[in-house]
Amino acid sequence: MECKKQENLKGCPCTYPDCPRKGTCCDCIKHHWQNKELPACFFSKEAEKTYDRSIEKFIEDQGK
Ligand code: SF4
Repeated sequence: MECKKQENLKGCPCTYPDCPRKGTCCDCIKHHWQNKELPACFFSKEAEKTYDRSIEKFIEDQGK
């Protein structure tokens, strides 16, 4: 299967600067899940900007 990095980048909401995993969703999820975190695309625009990718932040964000 061909990597969809360029296509993924068009829809990536992550604002964290210079992350080498941007657009490579498999690496992004793997990286965050190793730390029991979720990727940027799970968060609202406001919550994403905090760079807090924790599950606690996700629950707080969804409860709003
Ligand atoms: S969510 Fe994390 S790993 Fe994914 S592109 Fe943003 S900073 Fe990188």
